[in-house]
Formats: sequence, structure tokens, C-alpha cells
Amino acid sequence: MTKAKCPYCKKEYELDLTNDYNVFGECYEIEECAHCGKEFMLSFIVDITTDSQPALCLIGESEHKYEPTTTVPIMCTRMCCTMCGAEHLPTRAEWLKILENKEETIADIPEGRIREVK
Ligand SMILES: [Zn+2]
Ligand SMILES: [Zn+2]
Repeated sequence: MTKAKCPYCKKEYELDLTNDYNVFGECYEIEECAHCGKEFMLSFIVDITTDSQPALCLIGESEHKYEPTTTVPIMCTRMCCTMCGAEHLPTRAEWLKILENKEETIADIPEGRIREVK
């Protein structure tokens, strides 16, 4: 369990980090003190649990297996290889797939977020 210390009242309390952090390294979040209710900036390091699995794409035995990340807002979605974590911006065709059954359309995606295929 992680603990946070309020910078105002100096009380410690347990943090309930339920978010699924997609970022490794240092993160910042606005946290509300459980004691005095004041908001402060909390920085924390995301813990990394190691687990190894083969990444056939890295040893040239398979193509990358790109899956869209589940990112909010949707326009920030990237394609991420499920094996090695390589990322790239979705191409127009990939965007159309990502946007299936979504409210947004390809018109909502800024040009800069669409990967050009040469
Ligand atoms: Zn406090
Ligand atoms: Zn890969």
C-alpha cells in the first residue's frame, strides 16, 4: 500500500491508486487530502513488476502485433505492439477500425495524429 503525506496538515494516509497507469516513471496527479480536504500535487513513481515473455517481433520471427491503446481522449490512441510495446500513430485505415462503434469520426482526428503511409 502506498502512503501520501499532505503538504498542508502533514497527515499521512493510505493511497488507493486504482487507476491503471499506462505510464512508467514519475507521474503527477491532483490528490485531495483525506484529512483536511485540500488539494495538492502528488508525484509518484509507478512500480514496475517485471515479467518476461517472448517478443518474437524483436528477434525477427514475427511481425509486430499492433493493437490500439485504450486512451482518453480517443484521438490520442496509438497503436502499440502487444509483444514488444513498440508504438506508432494509427494509419487512416487503423483509425477507421478504432472509430468503429464510436461517436467520433475520422473527421475528429487531427491530421497530425494520422500516420502517413508511403
Ligand atoms: Zn491535509
Ligand atoms: Zn513488436
